[in-house]
Amino acid sequence: MEAFCPPLVRAPGYKGGMEHATSRASQVASLPEPLQRLWMERLLRLAERVGASGEVPVAAVVLDGQGRAVGWGVNRREREQDPLGHAELVALARAARLLGDWRFNRCTLLVTLEPCPMCAGALVQARLGRVIHGASDPKRGALGGCLDLASHSSAHHHMEVVAGVCADQAQRQLEAWFRRRRRERRQA
Ligand SMILES: [Zn+2]
Repeated sequence: MEAFCPPLVRAPGYKGGMEHATSRASQVASLPEPLQRLWMERLLRLAERVGASGEVPVAAVVLDGQGRAVGWGVNRREREQDPLGHAELVALARAARLLGDWRFNRCTLLVTLEPCPMCAGALVQARLGRVIHGASDPKRGALGGCLDLASHSSAHHHMEVVAGVCADQAQRQLEAWFRRRRRERRQA
């Protein structure tokens, strides 16, 4: 796991700040589009390495209110035979340990693929300020793809959702990975 996780860094040029936060909904600092893409491109590079190890190529990172990475995560379901081993949950758990807090109102989570129902539910429970994802997943995505847990009546917390950052790149990466896996299985 650690082998895949880059050291914690602050994105260059981050201008976000919490000084102007006035309500619960605005507790999360802004993250300009170029920075969203910059983080997503890093995640896609990380996901590529994870894909080469046999996991579905998905990577996630949690940024704190200052724009610092406080938890990275990659899929590790196959490697650890862990049904909870989705990138988002791994990143959340690591961030919670580092911050000593399970509430993420001021944090942003970026992930290369739209979260599944398990992860989307966890993100609402963790009170994420914002979730940004790359590829949409019309079959299993739970932030607007096949259902929308962020705006479900059970969601007691407002979570900003940004979809489609580097979406084409993320989609191509996943499709190539599944194509490769089908080919390998046919040859096995
Ligand atoms: Zn998931």
